[in-house]
Amino acid sequence: FLTLGIETSCDDTAVAVLEGPRRVLAAGLSSQVEDHAPHGGVVPELASRKHQEAILPLLHQVLDRAGIRNPARELHLVAVTSGPGLMGSLLVGVMTAKALSQAWEVPLVSVNHLEGHLFANVVAHGDLKPPFLCLIVSGGHTEILLVRAFGDYQVLGGTRDDAAGEAYDKVAKLLGLGYPGGPVVDRLAATGNPEAFPLPVPLSGSGVVEFSFSGLKTAVLWVLKRLEKDGLPVPVEDLCASFQRAAVASLLEKTRVAVEQTGVRQVALSGGVGANSALRAGLEEEGARRGWRVYLPPRDLCTDNGVMIAAAGYSSFRRGIRCDVTFAPDPSWELNA
Ligand code: ATP
Ligand code: FE
Repeated sequence: FLTLGIETSCDDTAVAVLEGPRRVLAAGLSSQVEDHAPHGGVVPELASRKHQEAILPLLHQVLDRAGIRNPARELHLVAVTSGPGLMGSLLVGVMTAKALSQAWEVPLVSVNHLEGHLFANVVAHGDLKPPFLCLIVSGGHTEILLVRAFGDYQVLGGTRDDAAGEAYDKVAKLLGLGYPGGPVVDRLAATGNPEAFPLPVPLSGSGVVEFSFSGLKTAVLWVLKRLEKDGLPVPVEDLCASFQRAAVASLLEKTRVAVEQTGVRQVALSGGVGANSALRAGLEEEGARRGWRVYLPPRDLCTDNGVMIAAAGYSSFRRGIRCDVTFAPDPSWELNA
């Protein structure tokens, strides 16, 4: 059973062909990072134009690498992200998927992007079975889900303000490190001293699954202002390490709260910030210390990709979900039971 997955919710055009629930036949990604970097963030109008340019060449490339000559005969399902995300970006993927599904006479399912992120874990770990907790940390979202079954999710809590990835990107911007900032901050933090600046761990001790990253970002800004006032150089590595210590401490603490609340001791990670080395190491350590089973997808399945969308679409299809061609992308489609 072959599923074509299409993802265009933000600034990456991604296509993949998946066999069954987990076997990747081919995957391709066309990144727009260099187009948006000069603007310091994603420019929606530019993103949709770039998706439009990239999607068909990428599709041909991926089908070719998957050895598919006659998609109408060989493919069984088209899965596409239809929210949350940028409307103009989503439209490119959704309209492409609708047209392909009509032309090939292959069924179509629409996939929630966050459910997609979650399914990176299903692709990576054949033994992962619900119930489990999933910490979703991405550019636009930070939440902990209880996965009661595939398709049955309870959001235990999320962020009051910025998402974790957004905080990484904003801190990188303050430090003049460019966009996207997460990977750069991660790399620089590795050689810095995390104790150099005692930044507050957001909502620590509150006992609820809730995040807040905007105050932490502002705390970094204050440190910068003070250094500037005192005429001191900015120890960029130390500041990255100190920010990362506080951000990761918050993510780990709230995961602990979620485990205590639910009694569920299987914990999966997903979303772009799931590629972060300190978070990955921290979760593994916590797991070893507290007897949790921790699931980490490989880094390239944490950030946006077509494989996770194909996997989520396949699962929906197996559960009987079908879409007719009248559905519309929903930029604010949140995952909630
Ligand atoms: P969403 O999934 O919420 O719609 P998105 O798709 O834009 O948002 P992702 O692609 O899942 O987000 O993740 C991108 C985010 O991950 C960016 O904010 C980026 O800075 C961050 N990120 C990527 N790698 C790392 C890393 N190693 N450390 C920290 N953050 C990272
Ligand atoms: Fe994403």
